[in-house]
Amino acid sequence: MVEEISRHLSNSYGNPSSLHREGRNSRMVIEESRRNIAKLLNCSIGEIFFTSCGTESNNTVINGAVRDLGVERIITSPLEHPCVLEAIKAQGRSVDVHFVQLNEIGQADLNSLEGLLDSKRKTLVSLMHVNNEIGTVNDIRAIGELCKRYGALFHSDTVQGLGFYTYDLSDLPVDFISASAHKFHGPKGIGLLYINDEISIKPLLWGGHQERNMRAGTENVAYIAGIGKALSLAYDELDTRKAHIMHLRQHLIDQLSGLDDVRVVNPSAELNHYKIVNIAVPLNDKTTLAIPNLDIAGFAVSGGSACSSGAETTSHVYDALFPNEELKLIRVSFSHFNKTEEVDLFCKVLKDVIN
Ligand code: PLP
Repeated sequence: MVEEISRHLSNSYGNPSSLHREGRNSRMVIEESRRNIAKLLNCSIGEIFFTSCGTESNNTVINGAVRDLGVERIITSPLEHPCVLEAIKAQGRSVDVHFVQLNEIGQADLNSLEGLLDSKRKTLVSLMHVNNEIGTVNDIRAIGELCKRYGALFHSDTVQGLGFYTYDLSDLPVDFISASAHKFHGPKGIGLLYINDEISIKPLLWGGHQERNMRAGTENVAYIAGIGKALSLAYDELDTRKAHIMHLRQHLIDQLSGLDDVRVVNPSAELNHYKIVNIAVPLNDKTTLAIPNLDIAGFAVSGGSACSSGAETTSHVYDALFPNEELKLIRVSFSHFNKTEEVDLFCKVLKDVIN
């Protein structure tokens, strides 16, 4: 993937909107990447748009749905990423916002969703596939089917899921999904947006006619090639990567079961993203410093989403799910590059930093 990006940084320097040969070469790189991605997600090429990140994709959907599709109600969850929650908040009084009830592991409760759906009012449901902090997986097929039954639009933030789960978009009842390359080992600063071709919204950024008028601004050709390559690799190697991560996950859970006062939150690899393990320890003077101490020992784990953990502020996800518990949560997120010995060392260090 890095070679692919470097090759295009060196060779595909033409502006893809220019008609000269260099420009046409760059255009071909973009369209080839789009074609590959559309094939992997089983949708048409006209439904895939390149953006700068997951945040931009999610903002484009929420702004567009309210401004261009007459959405007057949004149903969402308190566990969504801030780029969804803040984009909804920014709509002000133009929309009524409703929060779906959650079960004990943070999944959207389908009965509660059905109770909120109202076919008489134009509604957007925005519920993520996989939660970035606790890893809970929502049943987006069931959610999408409910939305269709009540004539609601369905947007799913699939930033944490793409590249780890397969999506057949010709069959999945979803109107919009968003993704970000760096979650599946692609470069940071490039994202994707899928918009079902029965829907038409206006762009977030105005200017040139790039991305078929959906996203003005000169395209990031090398990173567009990079996101296509990273996604192809993720899906080509999905089974082997997953098997390895599942082994690491189980190894970690087995070792943690021998430690006092340590609990794995939602250990199921079906209801939870298989690469995320959340470890709960009692909150005290020692465990408060667990994450910086693990960092000093070389372990890049976090206690919230990467976006907020720099400040070690409390997490809106943990607060919503465990409002009355004095817990310190440590999120381990595996990659297929991790090794069993790293898990062994992690458990050894964890024991020291929490006792
Ligand atoms: N949605 C989820 C679930 C995420 O985890 C993230 C980033 O961590 C985003 C959206 C934002 O993506 P980006 O950082 O590409 O803007």
